[in-house]
Amino acid sequence: MTEITGKPPIDHAFTGDRRGGAADPTYAGALSFMRRRYGKDVAGCDLAIWGVPFDLAVTNRPGARFGPQAIRRASAIFDGDPQYPSGLDPFARLQAVDYGDCALPRGDLRGSAKAIEIEAAGILATGAHLVTLGGDHFVTLPLLRAHVARHGKLALIQFDAHQDTWDDGPGGIGHGSFVLEAVREGLIDVERSIQIGIRTVAPRDCGIAVLDAYAAHELGVAGTARRIRERVREGAAYLTFDIDALDPAFAPGTGTPVSGGFTTIEVLRILRALGDLDIRGMDVVEVCPPYDHADVTAIAAATIVQHHIQALALRKAG
Ligand code: MN
Ligand code: MN
Repeated sequence: MTEITGKPPIDHAFTGDRRGGAADPTYAGALSFMRRRYGKDVAGCDLAIWGVPFDLAVTNRPGARFGPQAIRRASAIFDGDPQYPSGLDPFARLQAVDYGDCALPRGDLRGSAKAIEIEAAGILATGAHLVTLGGDHFVTLPLLRAHVARHGKLALIQFDAHQDTWDDGPGGIGHGSFVLEAVREGLIDVERSIQIGIRTVAPRDCGIAVLDAYAAHELGVAGTARRIRERVREGAAYLTFDIDALDPAFAPGTGTPVSGGFTTIEVLRILRALGDLDIRGMDVVEVCPPYDHADVTAIAAATIVQHHIQALALRKAG
C-alpha cells in the first residue's frame, strides 16, 4: 500500500490556514472565495464570506441563486498574492473564512428572510466582518436587519440601476421593494444614505439621496466619490452593490439589466476612493450566471469584493 505523505499542494479550500496565500492553479482545486478555507467556525476571524443562493423575489429573469458559485469560481485567481492596486496580500492581515452558503427553506420567502437574518446574526456575533454573495437584492433586507441589530442604524450606500423603493403592498416582498421596507422598519439612516447609478424612475426616494447615472457621469469618478463621502460622512454604513449598477456591456449576467451604467473601472476607482469609510458590512447581489457571457459579470463581482477586502486590510493596518 502506498503511503500518502506531505502537504497537499492544492485544495487550500479545505487544507489551508485562515491566513496566507494558496498555491492552487487557477483552473484546479476545490473552489472557495479567494481560496479561503471553508468552515463554520468563525471565532477569531476578521472576515467571513458566505453565499445566499436565493432568487425567489425577482421581478424579471431568475437565476441569481447561481451567483455565489459563479463569483467564487471567478475569484479563484485572487488567491493571496500581492493584489492590485494595494500591492498587499490582504490575508497577511485578515483572518478569513469562507462560511459556505445559507441553508434556505425551499419556496418559503418569509422563512428564507428569517433564515438569512438568523445565520447572518450568528456570524456577526463573533465580531467578524461579513461579506455576502447574493442572491437577488431582497437578501439585503434580512442582512440589514442583522447588521443593524448589532451596530445600530446604518447609512446605506447602494450602487444600483434601480432605487428598489417600490411598494409590493401589505406583506409584499420583492427585490425591488427592499429599501422601502428597510426604511419603514427604521433600519436605514436616510439622511446619510445615497443611491448611485440610478437610471430608472421609482415612485419615491424615501429621503435617500439619489445620484443618478447621468449625474454621476457628469461628476466623474472623483466627483462621484466626493458626493458619496459628503452624504455618508463619518458614521457607520452598509455597502450594497447591485451588479446592474454596471452597464450591461460590463455585467450582462443580471436579472434586470438597464443600459447606461458604469464601466467596471469606474466603480473600482470609486470604491477605492471610499476605502476609509466606516463600512460595517457589504454584499454584491443580482449576479445571474445563466445570462452571463465568458464570466464577465462574475469576474466583475469577484473584483468588487476583492477591492472591498483590500480596503478592510488597509483599514486594519491603520
Ligand atoms: Mn437592486
Ligand atoms: Mn437593480
